Amino acid sequence: MRIGIDLGGTKTEGVILDGAGKELIRRRYPTPRAEGYEAILNTIGFLVEELDQFAGHQCTVGVCTPGAVSQVNGCLKNSNTVCMNGRPVASDLENLIGRPVRLENDANCFALAEAIDGAGKNAGSVFGIILGTGVGAGIVINRTLFKGLHHIAGEWGHNVLEADGPQCYCGNQGCVETFLSGPGLVTEYVRQGGDAGVDATAVAARAMYDPTAGEALNVFLDRFGRALAMVINILDPDLVVLGGGLSKIERLYIEGRQRTALYVFNEDFRTPIVSNNHGDSGGVRGAALLWPE
Ligand SMILES: [Zn+2]
Repeated sequence: MRIGIDLGGTKTEGVILDGAGKELIRRRYPTPRAEGYEAILNTIGFLVEELDQFAGHQCTVGVCTPGAVSQVNGCLKNSNTVCMNGRPVASDLENLIGRPVRLENDANCFALAEAIDGAGKNAGSVFGIILGTGVGAGIVINRTLFKGLHHIAGEWGHNVLEADGPQCYCGNQGCVETFLSGPGLVTEYVRQGGDAGVDATAVAARAMYDPTAGEALNVFLDRFGRALAMVINILDPDLVVLGGGLSKIERLYIEGRQRTALYVFNEDFRTPIVSNNHGDSGGVRGAALLWPE
Protein backbone atom coordinates (compact mmCIF):
# COMPACT_ATOMS: atom_id res chain seq x y z
CA MET A 1 0.00 0.00 0.00
CA ARG A 2 1.08 3.54 -0.75
CA ILE A 3 1.03 6.59 1.50
CA GLY A 4 0.64 10.02 -0.04
CA ILE A 5 1.35 13.16 1.99
CA ASP A 6 0.27 16.63 0.89
CA LEU A 7 2.39 19.17 2.71
CA GLY A 8 0.47 22.42 2.42
CA GLY A 9 1.02 25.82 3.97
CA THR A 10 -1.85 25.39 6.43
CA LYS A 11 -2.58 21.66 6.53
CA THR A 12 -0.68 18.41 6.19
CA GLU A 13 -2.81 15.62 4.84
CA GLY A 14 -2.10 11.92 4.41
CA VAL A 15 -3.89 9.08 2.61
CA ILE A 16 -3.32 5.41 1.91
CA LEU A 17 -4.12 4.11 -1.57
CA ASP A 18 -4.49 0.40 -2.19
CA GLY A 19 -3.18 -1.35 -5.32
CA ALA A 20 -6.26 -0.32 -7.29
CA GLY A 21 -5.88 3.34 -6.30
CA LYS A 22 -8.77 3.25 -3.82
CA GLU A 23 -8.42 5.58 -0.84
CA LEU A 24 -8.50 3.57 2.40
CA ILE A 25 -7.96 6.25 5.02
CA ARG A 26 -7.36 10.00 5.23
CA ARG A 27 -5.87 12.01 8.08
CA ARG A 28 -5.29 15.75 8.32
CA TYR A 29 -3.32 17.94 10.76
CA PRO A 30 -2.46 21.63 10.82
CA THR A 31 1.02 22.35 9.43
CA PRO A 32 3.00 23.76 12.40
CA ARG A 33 4.47 26.51 10.25
CA ALA A 34 5.21 28.88 13.12
CA GLU A 35 7.17 26.19 14.97
CA GLY A 36 9.54 25.67 12.07
CA TYR A 37 11.22 22.97 10.02
CA GLU A 38 11.70 20.19 12.61
CA ALA A 39 8.11 20.46 13.82
CA ILE A 40 6.84 20.14 10.24
CA LEU A 41 9.00 17.04 9.65
CA ASN A 42 7.78 15.52 12.91
CA THR A 43 4.16 16.06 11.87
CA ILE A 44 4.84 14.10 8.68
CA GLY A 45 6.63 11.42 10.70
CA PHE A 46 3.68 11.09 13.07
CA LEU A 47 1.24 10.93 10.15
CA VAL A 48 3.25 8.17 8.45
CA GLU A 49 3.39 6.19 11.71
CA GLU A 50 -0.38 6.47 12.13
CA LEU A 51 -1.04 5.38 8.53
CA ASP A 52 1.46 2.48 8.79
CA GLN A 53 -0.39 1.30 11.87
CA PHE A 54 -3.67 1.34 9.97
CA ALA A 55 -2.11 -0.63 7.11
CA GLY A 56 -0.43 -3.08 9.47
CA HIS A 57 2.91 -2.75 7.69
CA GLN A 58 5.36 -0.17 6.31
CA CYS A 59 3.95 1.56 3.23
CA THR A 60 5.81 3.44 0.49
CA VAL A 61 5.81 7.21 1.03
CA GLY A 62 5.40 9.98 -1.53
CA VAL A 63 5.22 13.67 -0.58
CA CYS A 64 3.74 16.54 -2.52
CA THR A 65 4.82 20.10 -1.75
CA PRO A 66 4.91 23.53 -3.34
CA GLY A 67 8.34 24.36 -4.72
CA ALA A 68 10.92 22.13 -6.35
CA VAL A 69 13.86 19.96 -5.36
CA SER A 70 17.14 21.42 -6.56
CA GLN A 71 18.99 19.09 -8.94
CA VAL A 72 22.23 20.62 -7.67
CA ASN A 73 22.02 19.97 -3.90
CA GLY A 74 18.77 18.06 -3.29
CA CYS A 75 17.32 20.92 -1.22
CA LEU A 76 13.83 22.33 -1.58
CA LYS A 77 13.47 25.73 -3.22
CA ASN A 78 10.62 28.09 -4.16
CA SER A 79 8.29 26.76 -1.45
CA ASN A 80 5.87 29.26 0.07
CA THR A 81 6.49 27.55 3.43
CA VAL A 82 9.80 29.38 3.48
CA CYS A 83 11.36 27.53 6.45
CA MET A 84 11.48 24.43 4.17
CA ASN A 85 13.62 26.17 1.54
CA GLY A 86 17.30 25.28 1.43
CA ARG A 87 16.65 22.11 3.45
CA PRO A 88 17.23 18.54 2.21
CA VAL A 89 13.62 17.65 2.98
CA ALA A 90 13.55 14.23 1.28
CA SER A 91 16.75 12.91 2.90
CA ASP A 92 15.83 14.33 6.33
CA LEU A 93 12.46 12.58 6.05
CA GLU A 94 14.14 9.35 4.97
CA ASN A 95 16.26 9.45 8.12
CA LEU A 96 13.20 10.16 10.24
CA ILE A 97 10.93 7.39 8.90
CA GLY A 98 13.57 4.88 7.84
CA ARG A 99 12.68 4.31 4.19
CA PRO A 100 13.09 6.00 0.80
CA VAL A 101 10.88 9.02 0.19
CA ARG A 102 9.80 10.43 -3.16
CA LEU A 103 9.11 14.15 -3.05
CA GLU A 104 7.53 16.08 -5.89
CA ASN A 105 6.10 19.46 -6.76
CA ASP A 106 2.34 19.79 -6.19
CA ALA A 107 1.46 20.59 -9.82
CA ASN A 108 3.37 17.49 -10.94
CA CYS A 109 1.44 15.38 -8.41
CA PHE A 110 -1.84 16.88 -9.62
CA ALA A 111 -0.98 16.06 -13.26
CA LEU A 112 0.09 12.51 -12.33
CA ALA A 113 -3.10 11.78 -10.37
CA GLU A 114 -5.34 13.05 -13.18
CA ALA A 115 -3.33 11.16 -15.82
CA ILE A 116 -3.37 7.84 -13.96
CA ASP A 117 -6.96 7.53 -12.82
CA GLY A 118 -8.58 10.93 -13.23
CA ALA A 119 -9.82 13.03 -16.12
CA GLY A 120 -6.87 12.02 -18.31
CA LYS A 121 -6.78 8.30 -17.62
CA ASN A 122 -7.26 7.34 -21.28
CA ALA A 123 -4.84 9.93 -22.68
CA GLY A 124 -1.27 9.03 -23.64
CA SER A 125 0.06 12.48 -22.83
CA VAL A 126 -1.43 14.93 -20.35
CA PHE A 127 -0.64 18.55 -19.55
CA GLY A 128 -2.07 19.26 -16.09
CA ILE A 129 -2.45 22.89 -15.04
CA ILE A 130 -3.18 24.37 -11.61
CA LEU A 131 -4.75 27.83 -11.79
CA GLY A 132 -4.86 29.05 -8.21
CA THR A 133 -2.89 31.47 -6.05
CA GLY A 134 -0.08 30.65 -8.47
CA VAL A 135 0.11 28.85 -11.80
CA GLY A 136 1.87 25.49 -12.03
CA ALA A 137 1.76 22.61 -14.45
CA GLY A 138 3.05 19.10 -14.98
CA ILE A 139 3.58 16.78 -17.93
CA VAL A 140 2.74 13.08 -17.82
CA ILE A 141 3.55 10.80 -20.74
CA ASN A 142 2.38 7.17 -20.75
CA ARG A 143 1.46 7.40 -17.05
CA THR A 144 4.97 8.59 -16.14
CA LEU A 145 5.90 12.05 -14.93
CA PHE A 146 8.20 13.82 -17.39
CA LYS A 147 10.64 15.82 -15.25
CA GLY A 148 13.20 17.28 -17.66
CA LEU A 149 16.94 17.88 -17.36
CA HIS A 150 16.61 20.54 -14.65
CA HIS A 151 13.46 19.01 -13.21
CA ILE A 152 11.47 22.07 -14.28
CA ALA A 153 9.36 20.50 -17.06
CA GLY A 154 5.90 22.04 -16.98
CA GLU A 155 6.95 25.27 -15.22
CA TRP A 156 4.87 27.15 -17.75
CA GLY A 157 3.70 29.65 -15.11
CA HIS A 158 7.03 31.45 -15.48
CA ASN A 159 7.05 31.78 -19.24
CA VAL A 160 6.97 35.48 -20.09
CA LEU A 161 3.68 36.21 -21.83
CA GLU A 162 3.87 40.03 -21.96
CA ALA A 163 7.31 41.55 -21.40
CA ASP A 164 5.84 44.80 -20.04
CA GLY A 165 3.55 42.96 -17.59
CA PRO A 166 3.61 42.96 -13.77
CA GLN A 167 6.76 42.10 -11.84
CA CYS A 168 6.86 38.42 -10.87
CA TYR A 169 8.57 37.11 -7.71
CA CYS A 170 10.82 34.97 -9.94
CA GLY A 171 12.58 38.09 -11.25
CA ASN A 172 10.91 38.28 -14.66
CA GLN A 173 8.08 40.54 -15.74
CA GLY A 174 4.74 39.48 -17.20
CA CYS A 175 4.96 35.75 -16.44
CA VAL A 176 1.91 33.61 -17.22
CA GLU A 177 1.38 33.33 -13.45
CA THR A 178 1.04 37.10 -13.05
CA PHE A 179 -2.00 36.98 -15.39
CA LEU A 180 -3.63 33.57 -15.01
CA SER A 181 -3.49 33.21 -11.21
CA GLY A 182 -6.34 34.37 -8.97
CA PRO A 183 -4.43 37.54 -7.98
CA GLY A 184 -3.67 38.07 -11.70
CA LEU A 185 -7.36 38.14 -12.61
CA VAL A 186 -8.11 40.53 -9.74
CA THR A 187 -5.22 42.81 -10.82
CA GLU A 188 -6.70 43.02 -14.32
CA TYR A 189 -10.15 43.79 -12.88
CA VAL A 190 -8.71 46.61 -10.75
CA ARG A 191 -6.71 47.92 -13.72
CA GLN A 192 -9.99 48.17 -15.65
CA GLY A 193 -11.49 50.21 -12.78
CA GLY A 194 -13.03 47.39 -10.69
CA ASP A 195 -13.21 47.07 -6.92
CA ALA A 196 -9.98 45.78 -5.32
CA GLY A 197 -11.79 44.09 -2.42
CA VAL A 198 -12.99 41.00 -4.32
CA ASP A 199 -11.40 37.66 -5.16
CA ALA A 200 -11.03 36.00 -8.55
CA THR A 201 -14.14 33.82 -8.14
CA ALA A 202 -16.20 36.95 -7.51
CA VAL A 203 -14.74 38.67 -10.60
CA ALA A 204 -15.72 35.65 -12.73
CA ALA A 205 -19.24 35.62 -11.22
CA ARG A 206 -19.66 39.39 -11.74
CA ALA A 207 -18.71 39.07 -15.41
CA MET A 208 -22.35 38.15 -16.12
CA TYR A 209 -23.64 41.64 -15.26
CA ASP A 210 -20.65 43.92 -14.55
CA PRO A 211 -19.06 45.13 -17.84
CA THR A 212 -15.75 45.87 -16.07
CA ALA A 213 -15.54 42.30 -14.78
CA GLY A 214 -16.68 41.08 -18.20
CA GLU A 215 -13.78 42.87 -19.87
CA ALA A 216 -11.29 41.61 -17.25
CA LEU A 217 -12.46 38.05 -17.85
CA ASN A 218 -12.33 38.59 -21.60
CA VAL A 219 -8.67 39.66 -21.34
CA PHE A 220 -8.00 36.71 -19.00
CA LEU A 221 -9.45 34.23 -21.51
CA ASP A 222 -7.40 35.70 -24.34
CA ARG A 223 -4.22 35.41 -22.26
CA PHE A 224 -5.16 31.85 -21.37
CA GLY A 225 -5.49 31.09 -25.09
CA ARG A 226 -2.18 32.67 -26.03
CA ALA A 227 -0.33 31.01 -23.16
CA LEU A 228 -1.82 27.56 -23.72
CA ALA A 229 -1.29 27.68 -27.50
CA MET A 230 2.47 27.89 -26.83
CA VAL A 231 2.25 24.64 -24.90
CA ILE A 232 0.14 22.96 -27.59
CA ASN A 233 2.58 24.01 -30.32
CA ILE A 234 5.50 22.45 -28.45
CA LEU A 235 4.06 19.43 -26.63
CA ASP A 236 0.78 18.79 -28.50
CA PRO A 237 -0.62 16.74 -25.57
CA ASP A 238 -3.60 14.40 -25.96
CA LEU A 239 -5.43 16.22 -23.18
CA VAL A 240 -5.22 19.32 -21.00
CA VAL A 241 -6.71 19.10 -17.50
CA LEU A 242 -7.33 22.12 -15.28
CA GLY A 243 -7.25 22.24 -11.48
CA GLY A 244 -7.11 24.88 -8.75
CA GLY A 245 -9.76 27.41 -7.76
CA LEU A 246 -9.95 29.12 -11.17
CA SER A 247 -10.61 25.81 -12.96
CA LYS A 248 -14.22 26.31 -11.86
CA ILE A 249 -14.61 29.17 -14.35
CA GLU A 250 -16.85 27.46 -16.93
CA ARG A 251 -15.94 29.87 -19.71
CA LEU A 252 -12.38 28.51 -19.78
CA TYR A 253 -13.71 25.33 -21.37
CA ILE A 254 -15.68 27.15 -24.08
CA GLU A 255 -14.25 30.59 -24.83
CA GLY A 256 -10.83 29.77 -23.36
CA ARG A 257 -10.72 26.84 -25.74
CA GLN A 258 -11.85 28.98 -28.70
CA ARG A 259 -9.11 31.53 -27.94
CA THR A 260 -6.51 28.76 -27.74
CA ALA A 261 -7.64 27.49 -31.15
CA LEU A 262 -7.02 30.97 -32.62
CA TYR A 263 -3.34 30.85 -31.67
CA VAL A 264 -2.51 27.17 -32.29
CA PHE A 265 -0.53 26.48 -35.43
CA ASN A 266 -3.06 24.15 -37.00
CA GLU A 267 -6.36 24.69 -38.80
CA ASP A 268 -8.32 22.43 -36.50
CA PHE A 269 -7.94 22.13 -32.75
CA ARG A 270 -9.14 18.90 -31.17
CA THR A 271 -7.27 18.86 -27.84
CA PRO A 272 -9.79 18.26 -25.02
CA ILE A 273 -9.52 20.88 -22.24
CA VAL A 274 -11.30 19.37 -19.26
CA SER A 275 -11.85 19.91 -15.57
CA ASN A 276 -10.23 17.57 -13.03
CA ASN A 277 -11.86 14.51 -11.42
CA HIS A 278 -10.07 14.47 -8.07
CA GLY A 279 -10.69 18.04 -6.89
CA ASP A 280 -8.48 19.02 -3.96
CA SER A 281 -7.31 15.40 -3.57
CA GLY A 282 -5.20 15.42 -6.74
CA GLY A 283 -2.01 16.38 -4.91
CA VAL A 284 -2.20 13.81 -2.13
CA ARG A 285 -3.22 11.04 -4.56
CA GLY A 286 -0.44 11.97 -6.97
CA ALA A 287 2.06 11.84 -4.08
CA ALA A 288 1.04 8.24 -3.30
CA LEU A 289 1.24 7.39 -7.02
CA LEU A 290 4.91 8.49 -7.18
CA TRP A 291 5.53 4.84 -6.28
CA PRO A 292 4.35 2.16 -8.72
CA GLU A 293 1.76 -0.44 -7.69
ZN1 LIG B 1 7.69 34.38 -12.88
